[in-house]
Amino acid sequence: MEGQSATVQRSEADLLSYAKSTPLNPWGTYLHQIDMVKPHLGDLNRWVGTMQRPKRALIVDIPIEMDNGEIRHFEGYRVQHSLSRGPGKGGLRFHPDVSLEEVMALAAWMTIKNAAVNLPFGGAKGGIRVDPSTLSQRELEKVTRRYTSEIGLIIGPQQDIPAPDVGTNPQVMAWVMDTYSQNVGATVTGVVTGKPVHLGGSLGRTRATGLGVFAIGRVMAAANGLALDGARIALQGFGNVGGVAADRFVKAGCRVVAVQDHTGTLHNAGGIDIASLQEHVDRSGGIAGFAGADDLTLEQFWDVPSDILIPAALEGQITADRARRLSTRIVLEAANGPTVPEADEILFDRGIAVAPDVICNAGGVIVSYFEWVQDFSSFFWSEQEIYVRLEQVLIQAFDAIRELAVINGLTLRTATYLLSCRRVLTARKERGLYP
Ligand code: NAD
Repeated sequence: MEGQSATVQRSEADLLSYAKSTPLNPWGTYLHQIDMVKPHLGDLNRWVGTMQRPKRALIVDIPIEMDNGEIRHFEGYRVQHSLSRGPGKGGLRFHPDVSLEEVMALAAWMTIKNAAVNLPFGGAKGGIRVDPSTLSQRELEKVTRRYTSEIGLIIGPQQDIPAPDVGTNPQVMAWVMDTYSQNVGATVTGVVTGKPVHLGGSLGRTRATGLGVFAIGRVMAAANGLALDGARIALQGFGNVGGVAADRFVKAGCRVVAVQDHTGTLHNAGGIDIASLQEHVDRSGGIAGFAGADDLTLEQFWDVPSDILIPAALEGQITADRARRLSTRIVLEAANGPTVPEADEILFDRGIAVAPDVICNAGGVIVSYFEWVQDFSSFFWSEQEIYVRLEQVLIQAFDAIRELAVINGLTLRTATYLLSCRRVLTARKERGLYP
């Protein structure tokens, strides 16, 4: 058994060094992650091509009359990577850098995430190449409605259910729901999640991802012999996810010793008062200028000794250099894609445990699933019920991943991808090919 797991780890390391020598775009990174699990898929390898291409990709033109009378065209996408286990599910991103290739990768990662937590969904993602901050509210509504109408061909409560992502919010989801509903002649709340609560949205959605990060953190700490009481947290990103997670860790007895956001970096070895920091951020829009801590430079953040590091801001933050310098025991990937593949290998070699993004930040999509279920039954749960069920689903999924990792001598990331690929490819195999 020991010999077997050593072999597995070597082949994983070989693949990681391939990633080191090959600059990867998001889709390339995803394909590399699938390559990592192929040695463990056995007979299911016959079907692995299903994971390596999207099932369906739609590119749409969105012509809009701007407030100044000018006609402008925006490009939009909706990619359904997999529908093998259920309808597509994944967010809508409005950002000037959105491309088909990025949306393909994001859709594929939703397939992995949804299967990892065993939700009855495939994976999908959509986006518009637009900077929403340059649009008036009226222009944003027009762009959203025309885009929804164009992708109306392939979305629906049983086909594919969008949700908010970067640059979109509950108001945008309300317009998506209304446009789809107007086109089919009935109010269809279940076509989209992340809606305002009085339009069929779910209680608890806002806090769900941060609470999920804490739930995974508690399990990781116990598994690594770390007592949460007194544990030191370093946190990058003090927004929706980071703020909620910090609050929960502090309530469990942790000290947040460093916080970084887009405005600055704070350090206080005795622990930053998170409730006061939240008030400061609500008032001023960022952590800069907070009195209860010292300022550090951006790069010094990565040298602060901690027990748990939580990247909760952007992708690509834990680079190889930072991974070598980090002084921490556990990394909780609250953000999507915060660790570059080369850094993953370094963290593994240094014995730093990493909870991968696809499980660590899955709390949001789990409550999105609850929203979809509630919309279908037109019966809405209490916030308390949401949180209890969220933790049940997440921890059950994480336990299965940890067991698979131990049995096969894999990192938690590779184990997560393996479990998801097995679930998707088994569904694919059992459904068979048509014709
Ligand atoms: P948010 O916009 O509420 O907060 C983002 C935080 O990151 C802010 O504190 C911002 O100041 C900080 N930040 C931005 N640029 C930075 C930089 N250059 N350096 C340091 N900090 C920077 O976003 P969020 O909803 O909290 O999402 C955070 C991450 O979690 C993203 O990667 C997102 O994709 C991921 N995520 C969020 C959810 C969710 O439900 N909100 C679900 C899954 C994944």
